[in-house]
Amino acid sequence: MTDNAVIVGAGVIGLATAHRLAQDGLAVTVVDAQHGAAAGASVHNAGWIVPIMSTPVPAPGMLGKALRWMTRRDSPLYVHPSPSPEHVRFMINMLRHCNPRSFAAGVEALTSLNERTLQLFDEYEKDGIRFEHHRTGQLLAFTTRHTMEEYRAATAPMERIGHTAVPLTGDELRDLEPALGRQVLAGLHCPQERHVDPASLVQGLADRCRALGVRFLHDRTVTDIRSTGRTVTSVLAGGEEVTGDLFVLTAGVHTGPLSRLAGHPLPIRPGKGYGFDDTSGSVTLRHSVYLGEAKVAVTPLSDRLRFAGTMEFGSSDATVDPHRLRGIARSAHTYLPDFPLESHPRGWTGLRPMTPDGLPVIGPLPGKDNVLVASGHSMLGVTLAPVTAEIISAEVVGGQQRADAAHTARPFSPQRFTARRGRAAADG
Ligand SMILES: Cc1cc2nc3c(=O)[nH]c(=O)nc-3n(C[C@H](O)[C@H](O)[C@H](O)COP(=O)(O)OP(=O)(O)OC[C@H]3O[C@@H](n4cnc5c(N)ncnc54)[C@H](O)[C@@H]3O)c2cc1C
Repeated sequence: MTDNAVIVGAGVIGLATAHRLAQDGLAVTVVDAQHGAAAGASVHNAGWIVPIMSTPVPAPGMLGKALRWMTRRDSPLYVHPSPSPEHVRFMINMLRHCNPRSFAAGVEALTSLNERTLQLFDEYEKDGIRFEHHRTGQLLAFTTRHTMEEYRAATAPMERIGHTAVPLTGDELRDLEPALGRQVLAGLHCPQERHVDPASLVQGLADRCRALGVRFLHDRTVTDIRSTGRTVTSVLAGGEEVTGDLFVLTAGVHTGPLSRLAGHPLPIRPGKGYGFDDTSGSVTLRHSVYLGEAKVAVTPLSDRLRFAGTMEFGSSDATVDPHRLRGIARSAHTYLPDFPLESHPRGWTGLRPMTPDGLPVIGPLPGKDNVLVASGHSMLGVTLAPVTAEIISAEVVGGQQRADAAHTARPFSPQRFTARRGRAAADG
């Protein structure tokens, strides 16, 4: 039995994992490069808890769309024409997954993974984790009936886990959300979906972890991973050696380089997102709202309205391209006409950890006996944090718990990047 776990990365995935392993009775240390509370994607996101969106990013037609949008600096999807070999390999591998068979398999796997998501968030509250949690449902708004029908078809598989999307006319949508404009012609109402303030969730998890005795080492970037044979013995964090029996890599987009240090590189690369927070009160909403064709998420939080969107590949820093923010603001005006067209929001970015098949990587790192990975959650890291922690816990505790989780967890195994295609694919 493992007694002492070291978790590298204090984003929502690392904190959820730390919480769960501390509940299991392990002595847990969390190491993070940031000064204090998490500041990356786990804070800068839309905060949606959306099993209804159990769809992988690589979808039939997805990269074709990106290529058509290459010249638009405000498009919702963008692939930088970067010559970096890792970027090129990754995009080619993703392209291979943009087919109906991979997509359907991904939907099936993610839907099963999300089966208990709402229950697990309820359990967070029962455990005393304090966070801003809204159970008000979600609306998807479209300016064409055709797009609504496409999304409706995509949500059908989630009905088996109790998540439904009810089609509505534009007027029916406006009855629920009067701020939606006349350009909105059709939509879907997804009453089971929820949203949170992601910063409050991260803070709530960190507070609860501390109460359970988790030790935090902030301001320490892990720069090396030391092993004896198949066993990792320590990580070098801010120049200090941190030892443990078990290591869990939850470093978001940096999990790829860290897995390389541990001897087995995984293809995890950034998908940059943008967003801004509006406190003007020009628009008020009750539900979270998806601006369908524009691919923009709008989240009503207690003191502000959050807008988030864009998927940019080939960019790995936090710089804000104002054109992308303007693109989001313009879309907001189209669907929510009271949102001023001429607004020039100051915003933020978040780097989503992406994989070429669009599925998270959860489970043992090949080649090492005491390293687990939990990353690559793409657009669903908040939604999938508690169930990811459950799977990691099952790996650690073993026995019946591992047997129960095995079937659901299999499609997410890091092993899939070695099985047939070898190391080159992992570099992907
Ligand atoms: C615009 C946008 C909107 C989104 N909306 C949603 C949504 O509505 N719902 C949803 O479910 N998901 C959403 N997501 C996705 C979600 O935010 C991510 O999947 C999730 O935050 C990933 O969490 P993480 O813990 O894996 O990574 P991160 O949040 O990136 O955390 C990784 C941590 O590891 C640390 N770290 C990295 N390298 C090292 C190192 N070498 N040493 C020590 N520490 C290190 C970092 O400092 C960081 O704190 C959105 C993302 C974006 C960008």
